[in-house]
This record gives sequence, structure tokens and C-alpha cells, in this order.
Amino acid sequence: MPFLFHRPMHRRGFIESAALGCTFAALAGCRSSTSTPRDAHGPSLRLALLSDTHIPGDRINGHRGFNPWENLRRIVPEVLQAKPEGVILNGDAARLEGLPGDYAELLQLLAPVAAEAPVYIGLGNHDDRKNFGQALTAPSGLRQAVKEKHVLVIEHTVIRIVVLDSLQFVNKAPGLLGKEQRSWLAGFLSTHRDRPVALFVHHTLDDNDGDLLDAPRLFELLRHHHHVKAIFYGHSHVWSRTRREGIHMVNLPAVGYNFRDLDPLGWVDARFHDTGVDLTLRAFAGNVADHGKTHPILWAS
Ligand SMILES: [Zn+2]
Repeated sequence: MPFLFHRPMHRRGFIESAALGCTFAALAGCRSSTSTPRDAHGPSLRLALLSDTHIPGDRINGHRGFNPWENLRRIVPEVLQAKPEGVILNGDAARLEGLPGDYAELLQLLAPVAAEAPVYIGLGNHDDRKNFGQALTAPSGLRQAVKEKHVLVIEHTVIRIVVLDSLQFVNKAPGLLGKEQRSWLAGFLSTHRDRPVALFVHHTLDDNDGDLLDAPRLFELLRHHHHVKAIFYGHSHVWSRTRREGIHMVNLPAVGYNFRDLDPLGWVDARFHDTGVDLTLRAFAGNVADHGKTHPILWAS
């Protein structure tokens, strides 16, 4: 059954253009204000960053003793308390095969969050594009016109965010942007150079068989676009910050389960500003040693 979030007008401004804001939220409603939040540090954008929720339809399916359904239920109040201006779920929203029942549970769990802020969902290799599209009756506006890909743009005065689609085959590890999406991205970046850009993509960008297979072509493309400052990704269920070819690489932790005891389960409270982003880990299981630690990242000029 289609699921449409509805929420009231908001207390704070978010997207610089309310008209555009209405159209590209992956789910949820729209804000009416055209103002940009401003605090002591200047304008900023606060986002809750989630990845790899792996929500099952049966509420009990999990991995390594973790219950992803229970994990997401647990962090929803934390996310609400942070009062983010938006939420990004960076792929592998569903348990394994992107079944309709998975998305029904996911959307029910996220409903309290979606009532307060737009929730943007990218796709991973455990999602199903068709089932996802049927579960979310999202307006399409700034949903980008890339054939058979779910690509979103989030506009803000301090940062422009592009949520890419690396889902190639459901429930198989490797990912691919594909030539059409890469060509679209090259064109988009060429015509949107006035502020920093952060890319979100589900897959890891290394050289393993289960990574983003066209990662080298992506980096080749980005050599011409120095305003792309960061790439956020998931897939490995690891929390790390590195750099590659001058671009900040942020591996978001999983919400659902980890693969190794040394990795945290959690989400990231992000505050984007003019010159970078502050990332605070909100870990609730696994290795929680870095819970509450803030990692400031400054964009390279
Ligand atoms: Zn995953």
C-alpha cells in the first residue's frame, strides 16, 4: 500500500527555496519558510545521517545477534531530540531483498521523524527500486531525471547534496552508477559550481569485487570538479573518515548490525557549514568508544 507522510508546517527554515523543497523530499511534506538557520557560527545545515538500517518485514530477522528493527526503533527518539533539519538514509534501508513488507516496517518506524523533517532515502544493494518506488509516493520535482535510477538533490545555502543510486542487482554485493548517471552527474556539477557539493552513495569505493565497480570513473570525473568536497558512503558497516584525491571520504556506520566487534552501530549528527562539516557519532551498540565524539572536517580550498 502506498505510504505518504504528512506533517505540519515547520518552525525552522530548511531549503532555500520552499517551492523546490516541496518537490524533492523523498518522503515527508514541505517547509514553508525561505529563511536559512543562522547560529553563532553562521548559517548551517544540521542533518541526521543514517545508513544500512536493514529493516525486515518480520521485525525479528537480524544478523550477529542484532535486531535491526529494534535498533531503528531505538534511535528514532535520539534523532528527534537532535532536531535535524533533514535525515538521509544512505542505502540498504531494507533487510536483504527490498521486499514490500520491509519498506512498510521502515516507513512506520520513520513516521515520527518524517513528521518533523524531510527524510531522503538512497538505495543500496539490499533495496529493490520497484518496491521502494511503490512504497513511497514521493513527489518527483528535484528527483533527478536519470533513467531507472533514484537520484536526489538537496539544496541549501551552505552545501548542495547529491544522493546517488548505486543499486545494480538486488541482494548482490557490487554496485554501479552506470554511464548515464555519471554523465548526468558531470553535467550537473558543471552547471552547479557556486557552492560546495557533498555526494552520498551507498557503496564503498575501493577495488574489491563488492565495491562500486565504476568508482575509478567517478574519481576521474571528479578531477574536473573541485567543488565536490566529500563523499559519504555505507555498505561496509564501518565508521571512518579518510581522504582520497583531496576529497573527504566518510564511511557511515550501520544502524542494523556490524560485521566486526570493533565497529560501532549508530548514526551521525552532521552540521554542515560554509567551510566544512562537524560529524558527531551517536553510537548505541558494538564499539561505543567514540560515542559523542565530534570530528570536524574542513573543506580543502
Ligand atoms: Zn548493509
